[in-house]
Formats: sequence, structure tokens, C-alpha cells
Amino acid sequence: MQYVSTRGLAAPQSFSEILLGGLAPDGGLYLPVEYPRVSGAELDAWRKLSYADLAFEVLRKFATDIPEADLKALTHKTYTAEIYRNAHSSDDAARITPLRVLEEKDGKKLILQGLSNGPTLAFKDMAMQLLGNLFEYALAKQNAELNIFGATSGDTGSAAEYAMRGKKGIRVFMLSPHKKMSAFQTAQMFSLQDPNIFNIAVEGVFDDCQDMVKAVSNDLDFKARHKIGTVNSINWARVVAQVVYYFRGYLSATTSNDQKVSFTVPSGNFGNICAGHIARMMGLPIDKLVAATNENDVLDEFFRTGVYRVRKSAETYHTSSPSMDISKASNFERFIFDLLDRNAERVRALFAKVETQGGFDLSGKPGSDGDEFRKIEHYGFESGKSIHQDRITTIRDVHAKYGVTIDTHTADGVKVAREHLKPGVPMIVLETALPAKFNETIQEALGQEAERPAGFENIESLPQRFTVMAPDVVQVKKFIAERTGL
Ligand SMILES: *Cc1c(COP(=O)(O)O)cnc(C)c1O
Repeated sequence: MQYVSTRGLAAPQSFSEILLGGLAPDGGLYLPVEYPRVSGAELDAWRKLSYADLAFEVLRKFATDIPEADLKALTHKTYTAEIYRNAHSSDDAARITPLRVLEEKDGKKLILQGLSNGPTLAFKDMAMQLLGNLFEYALAKQNAELNIFGATSGDTGSAAEYAMRGKKGIRVFMLSPHKKMSAFQTAQMFSLQDPNIFNIAVEGVFDDCQDMVKAVSNDLDFKARHKIGTVNSINWARVVAQVVYYFRGYLSATTSNDQKVSFTVPSGNFGNICAGHIARMMGLPIDKLVAATNENDVLDEFFRTGVYRVRKSAETYHTSSPSMDISKASNFERFIFDLLDRNAERVRALFAKVETQGGFDLSGKPGSDGDEFRKIEHYGFESGKSIHQDRITTIRDVHAKYGVTIDTHTADGVKVAREHLKPGVPMIVLETALPAKFNETIQEALGQEAERPAGFENIESLPQRFTVMAPDVVQVKKFIAERTGL
């Protein structure tokens, strides 16, 4: 399987060649040259597989240059009940992404798929844990090293650190805004004592951290010398690892392949739902893919109107579902590439326009950039939006009716899913975090603390290991150089 860039000006590469990288050299994102198809016979055979075996079956269609025995060992090392132990019961932990039926009424069925039972209590572990093992494997083969350098305001940084801790050949340097993350998030990251993990608390805000990452990324010489890489959400291996749980969700919610299901996905950078789009393109019988946004409704606006309009920082709201607070959706270009029948020249023009004019318009109206909005239905996409008060109401209602506490992001999903229920088609909402991570809002909604999984009870009182630093690029480069010894 070869991978091509959405902008069409980069040489095709293999899975292993793009594994450690991010953007293609032409600024585009990688996608397989064509989507592998899954037959009905394969789907039937997959129904009884464990999560690890299912992950192997899906991944082998994409990672064709990794020997199958190695790939199987990697998925079995990653998807274990031990790593996904934060589930409600040991049965659920063994299932990795257990389904829970919330409601069945008038032929309409609302289901939660738990994706947040990994070490950091959010769905990013699903892909990042595999990435950690894939990276270690690939680096060992090349006898190489990688220094991951990034900035985080919460979920991504901790998922990356828990995936890379103790991995041979890998160090993580993670910037976060000093004293700006929640006590729980800070403790999760800073309590790691692994010698290959470096937490740097920057005296500034998240944007200062990101500027430092950009400055280092633009210094190509430094980057090459110190083998700097990233693990951001555009990484292809992360997207493909997420495809697996759409298969698992479908297979667990149905008994035969003539049935369909829909998914509602709390969305920010479009990484999660992009994996759903790929599963659907592979032939998984998905009816609708519903993108749920919070007040930052870039994606909802596009799926309602065909207009993609990125937001300025001042227009990007800090909400109670903070992992969806985005101003542009970094994986969206992958879907647009397919929507435009893979016309890379047009993708190039549209995303150049995003840079110069802040967006594009595919509504088909006079003066627009195209009329592909009419084809959205063919790809199954729908959308909806949820605001703070909706989250509060939904958390309360789900707690009262079904005795289940959901987090704020999942609440955005449930709110929007309820507006898209159809008789005869189960609706699966992807649960993207556990409520313990967003306890302040759970308090507001329920007047009580969110339950903490075992082992997290006293996380805030564990010893912390981190370095405070001014927002100074020279200083951070020196810090990295001293520790990479290169
Ligand atoms: C990252 C994240 C999201 C958004 O996922 P995307 O892949 O960026 O669309 C939603 N919920 C939680 C809890 C997250 O951490």
C-alpha cells in the first residue's frame, strides 16, 4: 500500500516511511492511494475476534510493509485488559471498547461506545498507545532515535507521554502553560518519573508554547541534528488506529451485515470522525456519521452550509469541553480530498485560500469555489452543535435516566445524537473521555464529584517532576540539546 499527499506534489511513500512523520513535504496530508475494501465474508469472520486480532486484521490492510507476525505482536502488546483497565468491570476491560445501551424506545436505540479506558482516561490513548509501540519497533529496526517535541493544553500531551514512557530510542519534551491546566491534568503529566519524559512548564499561555514549537520546527538544522519529531493528530498511523473501533462498534451492535448503524462523534480536529469516514469507505455499513461540535462550530457550519470558515484566536471560545476548542480542523483536508474526487490541484487551491482568505465555499452559490456540498449526503455526514447549558442538561439527564455519568465532550455527542436518531438504525455515540477529567463541570451539573477510577484517588499528591521555563526559544533548544547529547 502506497500513500499519496492530498496536495499531489509529494512522492508516494510506504506506511513505514510516513510512520514517524507529520505533513507531507508539499504541505498536504497522506492518504492511501486507494481504500482497501472489506468483504461481507471478512466482516462475518471478524465478529468473533478479540480487539487485538481485529486491530491486526484492519491494520494489515494498511501497514503492508510491516511483517504480519510483527504487526500482530504489536496489536497484542497494545490492546490488553491491563492497559484498558479503567473500564467499569473486568469484562468491559477485556472488550477494550465496550458498548453500553442507554435507551431503546420506538425502534430507536442510543448506545455509548467507551473509548476512554486507557491510561489517560481519554480516547486519544486508543491510537497513541499503538503509536508508542509502532515507533519503538520502527526505531529499533533502523537503530535510530526520536525526540518528540510538542505543546499541550491537556489531553494530547498526556496521551503521548503515557504512550512513550519507558520506550527505547524515544524521548518526549512536552511544553505546557505553567499553572494553566487543571490540577488533575497537571498531576497526570508531571507525576511521571520516567527518565525519557521531560515536562516543561512555560511561564505563559498555550499560544506561547505553540510558538516555541513552531520556532524550533522552522529551524531545520536543529530539527535534523536533534532528530525532532511530533505526534500531532494528522499522523496517519493515529488515524488508522482509530478506524478499528468503528469496526468493533459496528460488529458489537449488529448480528448481520445487512444491518446499519450510525455514529455520533464529538469533534475538534476531525481526526476521530475522519477514521469513521475511512471505515465507511472500506465498506463498513455505516449509515450516518454525525459530527458534534461545541460552541466552536467550524465543522457544524460546513456540514450545514458548505462554507468552511476558520476562526481567529479571538473568535475561538474556551469552553467546558476544551479538547474540542479548535479554530480550524487539521484533518479536514483528508475528507475534502475525497469529496473533490481526489483532485489534488483543487485541494491545493482551496487550502491556499484558507491561508490567505480564511476559508472556502463549496455551497455552489454564485461566486463559490465549487458545488460539492451537494455530495455531502452521499458520504453520510450530518452535524449538530451543543453549548455549555446543553452539556449541563445532558449530563444531568443521562445521570438521572440511566445512572451513567458522562464527561462534557461525550455530552456534546449525546445532545447532538438525540437529534439524529432514526428507527431501525442504532446510534453509537463515541465516549471520548471519562468524567473524572472534567470534574469541575460534573460538580456544576450534578452537585457531586465524578467517580475516579482506581489508582487515581490521590494523583494530585504524588511527587511531580517538571522544569519551569520562560517562553524563550534559545533556552528550550539548550535544554533539548543537553539531554539528547547529539
Ligand atoms: C481530542 C478530543 C476530541 C476531539 O477529537 P478530534 O479527533 O480532534 O476531532 C474530543 N473529545 C476529547 C475528550 C478529546 O480529547
